[in-house]
Amino acid sequence: MHAAIIGAGIAGLACAASLREAGIAVDIFEKSRGPGGRMSTRRGEGWQCDHGAQYFTARDPAFRAEVARWIAAGAAAPWQPRLAVFGGSGGHGSEGSPERFVGTPGMTAPARLLAAELALAARTTVNQIERDGAGWRLASAEHGWLPRRFDAVLLAVPAPQAVPLLQSSAPELAVLAARVRMRGCWSLMLRFDSRLPLAFDAAFINAGPLRWVARDSSKPGRLSREIDVPDTWLLHAHAEWSEAHIEDMPEAVAPILLQAFAALAGPAAETPQAWTAHRWRHADTDPPLERECAWDGGLGIGLCGDWIHAGKVEGAWLSGRALARELLRSQGVTRAA
Ligand code: FAD
Repeated sequence: MHAAIIGAGIAGLACAASLREAGIAVDIFEKSRGPGGRMSTRRGEGWQCDHGAQYFTARDPAFRAEVARWIAAGAAAPWQPRLAVFGGSGGHGSEGSPERFVGTPGMTAPARLLAAELALAARTTVNQIERDGAGWRLASAEHGWLPRRFDAVLLAVPAPQAVPLLQSSAPELAVLAARVRMRGCWSLMLRFDSRLPLAFDAAFINAGPLRWVARDSSKPGRLSREIDVPDTWLLHAHAEWSEAHIEDMPEAVAPILLQAFAALAGPAAETPQAWTAHRWRHADTDPPLERECAWDGGLGIGLCGDWIHAGKVEGAWLSGRALARELLRSQGVTRAA
């Protein structure tokens, strides 16, 4: 049994790690430069900033055990920001204070830890999958048809990116993925040459264009010799606002988000030393499908990811593990994944 996994976000990596533990050979194909997907950290001259997932919670016992392993390996740590909520109650931030964790020294660290033991082909954008006898062939934009034939193919990519791959060879799964609506998010990373004098390190915002702001430099493990920018902040816009402005230029988006930040944080917040914008086209799912994963044992193809299961880092990890379990069950392997 040799499986191909498309996508090296936390779902694909969790799936691959489970299969590898059970003795299944796995190749992972990832279109970007490295693993992590939306658990991502942007690095520049003297600064870094998590610009996708901001933190993760761990409620499921299996995921808590995994997070403990990441912490023991130095790849994650608890984060206890001074937290504020602006713009009324009942919105984001009203769920109390769950334990929050971040990757260390950046949000990509847990993914890098998992990927270190796996066969990962980066910069490989799978753009076609095709049945080949009882197995599968894959083609990538960079390398054309790949030489290996796989017994199973597991897609761990956002739903809109899964649909075109599935349409001709697994139309029922294509219909399932096409039901899902994923929403965009504008993200703005700010560098300040002195520390903003604020009484909070992170805030949920329930009015205006912003949804979340966080002092990235307040996260554990961020200080190193390579980082010399004193204060780094991350702004995330609301899904509705982001969707309405998703095709705008960064130069049009940034002043609006900076102005909204200054309304909370004072005039100095509007004039950072430098800013970098990032447009996420598929940030979250509204709502996720209420299942763990999808597996077609007859065809040997499956889907996992946050959009199927609970829409967060924890849900994505659980979904990847669930898909590995389904594949192992179909092979008659009964050990828990
Ligand atoms: P992804 O991380 O998207 O991984 C999919 C991977 O597939 C990517 O690496 C992609 O490059 C790759 N890929 C796609 N198509 C192809 C292809 N054709 N060939 C090869 N590779 C391909 N979650 C939380 O728990 N807490 C938060 O605070 C939080 N905040 C967030 C804020 C933002 C702005 C965003 C964007 C997300 C946030 N999330 C948060 C959600 C969290 O990041 C995701 O739920 C989780 O990381 C999804 O993991 P995944 O493996 O399912 O998908």
